[in-house]
Amino acid sequence: MARYTDAVCRLCRREGQKLFLKGDRCYTEKCGVTNRTYPPGQHGQGRSKTSEYGLQLREKQKAKRYYGLLESQFKGYFELAARRPGVTGENLLSILESRLDNTVYRLGFAMSRAEARQLVGHGHFTVNGRKVNIPSFLLKPGMVIAVKERSRGLEKIKGNVEANTFRKPPKWLDYDAANMVARVVGSPAKEDIDLPIEEHLIVELYSK
Ligand code: SF4
Repeated sequence: MARYTDAVCRLCRREGQKLFLKGDRCYTEKCGVTNRTYPPGQHGQGRSKTSEYGLQLREKQKAKRYYGLLESQFKGYFELAARRPGVTGENLLSILESRLDNTVYRLGFAMSRAEARQLVGHGHFTVNGRKVNIPSFLLKPGMVIAVKERSRGLEKIKGNVEANTFRKPPKWLDYDAANMVARVVGSPAKEDIDLPIEEHLIVELYSK
């Protein structure tokens, strides 16, 4: 699967806010957004006015980058959201949040979504007792996600759990920290997302 491999701090600077793409560095004074508050590039300090289209585009880019997705993947999720009953924008956020890699990150097993994707890809997690190594796997209410028994002693995962105790799991996950197991007890809602995303702008953009 293709993925973005350039400097990720540029993405946060472009969106003008922390997207937490680099793990522990994001919580330090080395954060690129904290140090340089203007967009990257030659004209970064000269841009000022943003059109309606520009606002919609930025919101879509922000969400896409936050979840570490490429355009085609993101568009695919939008189309899935539009086919589901209910409000398309809210469906979209719920789908994005239900990805297995995001869930691993939200549970504190990884310092960033990129790291979560790697840990999932290496087969360290199970869903309903079976190994799942597909980061885009969509979790549904009732499913149980766990760190694979043999992976529970892994320094990387243990260290991340210790470092992430300040991040609380969202309420759609019932987390048993002692056993590194979580049950999906609902569908993620807009208020469960820890980055303000104005999803209606994304819907407007794709509806043009
Ligand atoms: Fe974004 Fe983290 Fe880089 Fe700060 S350190 S700019 S939050 S990726």
